[in-house]
Amino acid sequence: APPATNSPGEVDSGGRPHVMFIPSAGMGHLIPFFRFIAALAGQSVDISVVTVLPTVSAAEEDYFTSLFAALPRVRRVDLHLLPFDASKLPSNDRDPFVLRWEALRRSAHLLGPLIAGAAPRVSAVITDVTLTSHVIPIAKELGVQCHVLFPSSATMLSLLAYTPVHIDKKAEQGSDIGDVDIPGVCRIPQSCLPQVLLHLDKLFTKQFIANGREIINADGFLVNTFDALEPVALAALRDGKVVPGFPPVYAIGPLMSQQNSVDEGGKEEGSGSPVAWLDEQPARSVVYVAFGNRCAVSHDQIREIAAGLEASNCRFLWVLKTTTVDRDDSAVLTELLGEEFLERVQGRGLVTKAWVDQEALLKHPAMGLFLSHSGWNSVTEAAAASVPLLAWPRGGDHRVNAMVTVSGGVGMWMEHWSWDGEDWLVTGVEIAKKVKEVMSDEAVRARTTRTAEEAAKAVAEGGTSYRSMEEFISSVKATV
Ligand code: UDP
Ligand code: UDP
Repeated sequence: APPATNSPGEVDSGGRPHVMFIPSAGMGHLIPFFRFIAALAGQSVDISVVTVLPTVSAAEEDYFTSLFAALPRVRRVDLHLLPFDASKLPSNDRDPFVLRWEALRRSAHLLGPLIAGAAPRVSAVITDVTLTSHVIPIAKELGVQCHVLFPSSATMLSLLAYTPVHIDKKAEQGSDIGDVDIPGVCRIPQSCLPQVLLHLDKLFTKQFIANGREIINADGFLVNTFDALEPVALAALRDGKVVPGFPPVYAIGPLMSQQNSVDEGGKEEGSGSPVAWLDEQPARSVVYVAFGNRCAVSHDQIREIAAGLEASNCRFLWVLKTTTVDRDDSAVLTELLGEEFLERVQGRGLVTKAWVDQEALLKHPAMGLFLSHSGWNSVTEAAAASVPLLAWPRGGDHRVNAMVTVSGGVGMWMEHWSWDGEDWLVTGVEIAKKVKEVMSDEAVRARTTRTAEEAAKAVAEGGTSYRSMEEFISSVKATV
């Protein structure tokens, strides 16, 4: 491993800025970091990445390993978390990723010496939204710029920024959170909020509100979206309608892996791999089913999805995860789905529990539809690949993202399908019906094609995201 830190001292920066990344945990949070780091690595910038090992999931570890292997000039700065006993927490949040964020937040004061001691001098820190309320004050004290890489939609960022204002008002009135009317953006009905926000004593909610209060002090926000996808939310944030004096918002998406990719962790190729299987399928014939890196779907719901896919008569590729953390997933496909099901769909359907290179799979010509939880990375990958998304939100920010999926022309949203703690199942019959319907919906496909064209324009030379990226780099270079 490379040295954990450089010794402080007079190291000539050669006029290059030194950017230190402080990511958090969960693949949905790390993938945008890895893609952004790879993009920045080609830009005469020195880069360090604060790394906490062991990671929560195996996938995270694979990706960190690939990052440092693919980009040997990127420095690894090890952070050793302080002991953290989650069982002593007063709240009942037991999500392993939220707990890791909490552990990182409680060890954040250790970052001061890492930033101050790095050579050449750190010019800017880029941290994850989950750590902002702890990292911004540390960076400010050291006189270092602090930017936030936001891993969700601009609409979600507007909700984060506005929630503290909203709950303060509600507290005065003595009422519950209710619908949130984000000035200049939209009204988010209470039923579409991350449901955890209905409970102010939850750890996630405390972090969310603390981060929401502090973000005004960031030097800038890097958001994995593009102007044509979220014009209203981006304009409202930039014009100070959501919160007056909001920092600059750089819409730099859709973030994609570079050639010579860093995020190829666990990439599978060769016979039997999803890519080899897709190669055998006709154009636009396959329904891709995946709910991100950490949505555990119940066994009963899994059986309904299986029945639905079978009854749809469509070809399908299904990435199935049964636990929040991949290391805990010992479920056996034949036990979950039954050998008979797997035999009946053989050739027509492929089910895997392995990590797949989703971004690459979505670009395959055989892809016809993406049945997705509408995690934000999935939405942007579908938009970039021009694959219509059938959004089935499962929790967290998914319903907010599903609203953007529809308004931004990436696909459709099953508004009445169950989510977050609801104990009823969407039936196989319903799933089959909807999948068939959307597979043959030319209007949805045409909208998605237009959005994909906008995405390509945004990141091409001179496009909105390209220019935002240039502006961001100039602002960092101006500090040297
Ligand atoms: N992903 C992947 N292979 C998998 C599972 C997930 O490449 O087997 C990637 C996916 O492409 C996306 C990220 O992991 O980039 C998941 O992020 P998203 O925001 O879609 O959902 P989350 O996992 O955060 O709920
Ligand atoms: N989030 C946020 N502030 C925080 C913590 C999280 O804005 O302090 C956002 C995060 O970017 C994501 C959403 O809240 O959009 C839900 O977070 P989580 O990572 O739990 O959901 P996931 O995307 O992994 O399903």
